[in-house]
Amino acid sequence: MSSKSSKPWLPQTPAPEVIFYNANVVNVEAGEVIPNSTVHINNGRIVDVSSGDTAKPPTGANAVNLKGQYICPGLIDCHVHLTATPGSSSLKDIFSASPNSITHRAGFVAREMLLRGFTTARDTGGADFALREAIAEGLIMGPRLFIAGKALSQTGGHGDFRAIYQGDEQKCCGGHTANLARVCNGVPECLEAARDELRQGADFIKIMCGGGVATPSDALDMLQFTAEEIRAITTTAKHSKTYVTAHAYSVEAIRHAVDNGVRGIEHGNFIDEETAAYCTELGVVFTPTLVTYHGMSRPPFDKFLDDFSQIKNRQVLASGLDALSILRKAGATICYGSDLLAGLHPLQNHEFSIRSGVLSARDILQSATINAAKYLGMEGQLGCIKKGSIADMLILTSNPLEDITVLDHIQDSLVAILKDGRIVTKRSSWLSVDPLYDPCHIQVQ
Ligand SMILES: [Zn+2]
Repeated sequence: MSSKSSKPWLPQTPAPEVIFYNANVVNVEAGEVIPNSTVHINNGRIVDVSSGDTAKPPTGANAVNLKGQYICPGLIDCHVHLTATPGSSSLKDIFSASPNSITHRAGFVAREMLLRGFTTARDTGGADFALREAIAEGLIMGPRLFIAGKALSQTGGHGDFRAIYQGDEQKCCGGHTANLARVCNGVPECLEAARDELRQGADFIKIMCGGGVATPSDALDMLQFTAEEIRAITTTAKHSKTYVTAHAYSVEAIRHAVDNGVRGIEHGNFIDEETAAYCTELGVVFTPTLVTYHGMSRPPFDKFLDDFSQIKNRQVLASGLDALSILRKAGATICYGSDLLAGLHPLQNHEFSIRSGVLSARDILQSATINAAKYLGMEGQLGCIKKGSIADMLILTSNPLEDITVLDHIQDSLVAILKDGRIVTKRSSWLSVDPLYDPCHIQVQ
């Protein structure tokens, strides 16, 4: 059993009781703001939400007047790679840093992500149980994580980062390199890899079903894994009461995945109307990631990819917004994703602005809150400001339902971030930052 004596970094005090009043609560589900609201939090949870004229505002040291300000649920990014850290000048060098360097750098990436307002993230390849645990215990700052462990790829697939001149000795066999993925071929190896990721604490399984931008030997129209291999993996996930999501751009790759039991599609840039309708009928969840192509197409990051990858990047970039609008028309469930690597992480919030080209503010905010929470099995717990939910919230001076780009330039309107009811950061005179997030605060033990 974990205790403060065996793990001295665990919080010394429970999350505080705070009563926010006079607040505008952003009701993401209804797409409206509820004015004059009181949100009572205690011990990491929202214990009550009420609205309307109260006869007497709450008093006491823990009552905070949020007049003119907005309480928005903490954001959820459903496609990140925390271990694809800055520190390398080109993609081929990204995993050649020592695993220890990558671990420390991932701590930096996690902290910055939380400070951008993402209180939860779904890592689709790279983060392991140790990173998830270190964040959960408050050892390092970061968003609460749901992890795939290493993504599964066939040889020469989107998880095989070897240059074409490199042979078998460089092959990632799972667990021993800092790569985002591991290679497996044939039903027995696919079964073993899926079971092994679940053994190591994966919350879900990620597979590569078609060509990708950043890898050196797979064209975008390539199909990856056989139907038998995919079915072996989806059956394994189902037996462990979880699901498989697939990297796929083309119609052929998307159908290859969903027809063999895959429940989520990452990217989906080349989808057509017929396939979008088909997937919606099956309840497939989509996580587009437009900002990464956008970022890699511009200086200084256009130099990050080799020529082959740059051509592929231009193709997926050109179809990204069309895909989003096709998915919207089909009524598909869409989640927020960014998929940023290395030095591109600071662009994470720019996906909000990009999506505003074709989606409403409400749809975009739902993709980063309630849709994502439901996908993670956390409906009613995350992504909403409701009685009983986890107290992850942003306090803002502007209304994101009126202008979603407020979340792109979040530092301009951010008053505070709370995670698990603890104040992570704040720009206001009320209360104080939680000792967990203030490493220079002296704790008497
Ligand atoms: Zn990715």
